[in-house]
Amino acid sequence: MTLNGYTYRFGMSNLCPPMNIGPNTKNKALVVFSGGQDSTTCLYWALQNFDEVHALTFSYGQRHIIELESARLIAEMAGVTQDLIDLGPAFANLSSLTDTDQAIPASDSAGASNASAELPSTFVPGRNIVFLSLAASRAYVKGCDTIVIGVSQEDFAGYPDCRESFIKSMESAISNGLDKPIRIAAPLQNLSKKKTVELAVSLPGCMDALAFSTTCYNGQRPPCGNCNSCVLRAKGFAQAGIEDPLLEGVPSNARR
Ligand SMILES: [Zn+2]
Repeated sequence: MTLNGYTYRFGMSNLCPPMNIGPNTKNKALVVFSGGQDSTTCLYWALQNFDEVHALTFSYGQRHIIELESARLIAEMAGVTQDLIDLGPAFANLSSLTDTDQAIPASDSAGASNASAELPSTFVPGRNIVFLSLAASRAYVKGCDTIVIGVSQEDFAGYPDCRESFIKSMESAISNGLDKPIRIAAPLQNLSKKKTVELAVSLPGCMDALAFSTTCYNGQRPPCGNCNSCVLRAKGFAQAGIEDPLLEGVPSNARR
C-alpha cells in the first residue's frame, strides 16, 4: 500500500499484523511501556517483529513508584533503550489511580467515578490520547514508523481509549499532524487475557520479564489479588493453564 510516496509495510488499518513477518518488513518501533503485563508482552512482541525497539515510559502520578521500577528493570532485561517522560501533575487526582484519597475499587465493585457513573474510577481521562501524542513526537524524531501500545478492547471495553475505533482515529490524526505515516500497532487489541498469556509464552524471554512486571492497581508485590487488574491477570493465566511467573516463589498462603 502506497500513500504520498510512502509504502506502508503492513497497511494502516491492520492493527495486529501476523506474527511471522518476514525479515524484509522489519523496522523501528517505539513501545508505550508501563512495566505491566500487557506492555511487557508488547515489548517482547516488538522485539520479534522489528529490527530496532525503543521503550517509552510515562510518569503520570501513578500511585506506586514500583510500576516505574518494573519498567526500568524490564527494559534493561530486554536490552532496549528507555525514555521516561514525567508528566508532572497533568493527571493528578483525576482518577483513583492518581489520587491516593480515592480507594481502588475491588473487582466486584462498579467503582463509579465522580466524573462518570459509567466508567470505573480507575479510568484516567485522556491518558492514552496524551501517551500516543507524545509517543508520536518521539517516534518522529527517532525515525520509528510504528508505535506499539498494549490496549485491549476485550478486557477493557469500559475504557473508551482502548477501543479499536480510537486507535484508528489516533493513527489517522498523528499521521496527518506529522505529515508522516506512523502506524499504531495494538497486537493485543482483540485478544482475551488467556490469548495474551499464550502469546507471552511464545515470545522468547517474555515470561522471565513478566516475573518483574507490575499489574496490580494497588502496586503490591505479591499482588493484592482483589483489584480488577489482579483478577483479570489471574483469570488469564488460569485459563491458559500456566503459572504466573510473578507468583513463582510466593507461598500459596501469601497469594490473595
Ligand atoms: Zn491488585
